[in-house]
Amino acid sequence: MSEKKAKMSQAMKEKLTPKSFVKNPIKGTKFTLMVSSAKGGVGKSTFAVNLAFALKQLGKKIGLLDADIFGPSLPKLIGKNEKPENKDGKYIVPIDSHGVQCMSMGFLVEETTPMIWRGPMVISAIKTLTERVLWKDLDIIVIDMPPGTGDTQLTFAQDIKVDGAIIVSTPQDIALLDVKRGIQMFDKTKINIFGLVDNMSFFKGDDGKNYNIFGEGGVEQTAKEFNKDFLGKIPLHQDLRISADKGDPLTLSDPKHEMSLIFKIIAEKILKKLD
Ligand code: ADP
Repeated sequence: MSEKKAKMSQAMKEKLTPKSFVKNPIKGTKFTLMVSSAKGGVGKSTFAVNLAFALKQLGKKIGLLDADIFGPSLPKLIGKNEKPENKDGKYIVPIDSHGVQCMSMGFLVEETTPMIWRGPMVISAIKTLTERVLWKDLDIIVIDMPPGTGDTQLTFAQDIKVDGAIIVSTPQDIALLDVKRGIQMFDKTKINIFGLVDNMSFFKGDDGKNYNIFGEGGVEQTAKEFNKDFLGKIPLHQDLRISADKGDPLTLSDPKHEMSLIFKIIAEKILKKLD
């Protein structure tokens, strides 16, 4: 074979072998847990924040990273908008919220500044949030992912060691379609799905009846179909919405609330999976 041909066949081989990525753990934490939803508006951020405080109530040291670069919501959900301290011009110190270490793009830019960025800038922002934040002695870092299957998901899938992912959805058909896409993305990128959560599952009326506003059983059914665990149903409850709007997570302000107890059960299931 001529030298040119040999070179070409070597280049072809390299192209055809599946790429293996070096996945680095986030420094300062034992475990990394991803909270994801295929669709926006299903309550993923509300879930992530309340889960973080529920895990804290169970005695774990928790970090909360809002990985939504374009629509950060963590500052609002924890009622804090401080500028983080900068260490040696290189590192960012997380903001403390009742013992949970928090970081979000929202702390780094003005609330109303739109992020009009291309892919490489998003990737670099995710690298900053995962490599340059001084997380300290955490058991678990909870990552509130942006919805969908874009640059942020790809960066996490290729570069960061993730121990488990939770997919949050409403039981509506249109949301479930995206959940199926989300499950396949995680399976393809070899991220272990801990399970699916059915949010806004039903509304309990004053008459004591449950109303299945967004449909019934679809998330559990999807979990079964893809051989994934179903972690539980979270009803539609005004107190959860009010506490989120006030920036005072319910699992923190009222851990005995019926909704907080549901988060506690889900948090316990997740801890078992990390054991
Ligand atoms: P996402 O992160 O998926 O875009 P959010 O967490 O921002 O969604 O939630 C969307 C809206 O729904 C917020 O106003 C939030 O307070 C509300 N919400 C989420 N889950 C519930 C629930 N179980 N009961 C009542 N309101 C909820």
